[in-house]
Amino acid sequence: MILFDDTAIAFESKNDNDLLRAFFLFKTVANPSLVKMSKVLVETAQKIHFPVAWAVKPTIYRQFVGGESIENCFKLVRVLEKYHVKAILDYSVEGMSSESIIQHTLEETLRTIDNAAIDANVPFAVFKPTALCSHEVLEKAADPNYALTETERGEASKFKERIAVLCKRAYEKEVRLMIDAEDSWYQSFVDDVITEMMMLYNKERAIVFNTLQMYRADRLDFLKASYEKAVANNYYLGVKFVRGAYMEKERERAFQMGYPSPIHPDKQATDDAFDAALQFSMEHLDRISIFCGTHNENSCRLFATLMEKQGLSKDDERCYFSQLYGMSDNISFNLANKGYNVAKYVPYGPVKSVLPYLIRRAEENTSIAGQTNRELSLIKKERQRRKNLRAPIS
Ligand SMILES: Cc1cc2nc3c(=O)[nH]c(=O)nc-3n(C[C@H](O)[C@H](O)[C@H](O)COP(=O)(O)OP(=O)(O)OC[C@H]3O[C@@H](n4cnc5c(N)ncnc54)[C@H](O)[C@@H]3O)c2cc1C
Repeated sequence: MILFDDTAIAFESKNDNDLLRAFFLFKTVANPSLVKMSKVLVETAQKIHFPVAWAVKPTIYRQFVGGESIENCFKLVRVLEKYHVKAILDYSVEGMSSESIIQHTLEETLRTIDNAAIDANVPFAVFKPTALCSHEVLEKAADPNYALTETERGEASKFKERIAVLCKRAYEKEVRLMIDAEDSWYQSFVDDVITEMMMLYNKERAIVFNTLQMYRADRLDFLKASYEKAVANNYYLGVKFVRGAYMEKERERAFQMGYPSPIHPDKQATDDAFDAALQFSMEHLDRISIFCGTHNENSCRLFATLMEKQGLSKDDERCYFSQLYGMSDNISFNLANKGYNVAKYVPYGPVKSVLPYLIRRAEENTSIAGQTNRELSLIKKERQRRKNLRAPIS
């Protein structure tokens, strides 16, 4: 049985100052009113172009972000490597969709693929669909009852072309490429494009990975159907499993627009679906590559146990564990220490552009109180352990 509470291993890469900073940060995000207030302050400051970098950069940015550029992340990638933890550099510019920003993001994502191709400690590249198209067009393209105008058809085609450019480069450079999942109301269009790419580029092994948010009640069936399609068309299926980050927004929209919520009714149902998806994929590992993106200890333990039961080597390339940088080091570093494939998602980008990502992390840590308390108690335990080590023996 894997234990995730060995804090000496979990925090070996952190010095005392890093631990203290993390402690105060998690203490802050554990307070919902403080997070709400900070969110309003940051959003207002952005609107009036008041600089916030001085407050954000040494605190929450430093905890959750690798740096402003790929090059800025090199040092961190080497530190992680020392502890056998890999890194996935994620250009985290969100919520901007002008033509020039889209073009810039496309070029930057190509650079992350090129960088992964020459760095053995960076096994995947990743991008968000909304970074390559406007939300409006994605939503309309996914709506079976809407006929796209000619301009919108053009935009939707451009989106497909951009994804094709990225997948082709990933294939040529032999870098696995993941596409994040966002709002459910445009995912069907994104799924179709990704499936096309898998048919083209996953013939020899899984290069293109889709993301399944297991809080969605329809995703287990979707996984099974995707598997059938992969078998029928003879390609490999790459899947990143997550629970899903936009639950409140999904439920709110469904309520406002009067359709049934696509999200499971409760946490247990999401947990069951997540674990069932892992189980199903492990039974079809000849066809499916699994990327398990979670901070849930039980799911990580289940994944490791299933691997062991099947007699797989811990570093089987079809099985990856992943956590976000700045969170759940106890899981990442303890699994890596035992020899499992572990990759940290390392967001990077200018402070202003990664603010939506940071606000989401703060809100998530507030709403998942158990997780934040776990981070706090592990940090406390490690600080105490270090203090005891230094105490003179009487
Ligand atoms: C490497 C990595 C990549 C990620 N990429 C994506 C991505 O592409 N898209 C994306 O959406 N998210 C992504 N996430 C975030 C992820 O979806 C979760 O929000 C986050 O990891 C918390 O879930 P958990 O499994 O870690 O932990 P847990 O604490 O066990 O689960 C919390 C999650 O359970 C679900 N949940 C909580 N309460 C309920 C309820 N009442 N009813 C139903 N479900 C509930 C929600 O999804 C919530 O986020 C990623 C996370 C990681 C670690």
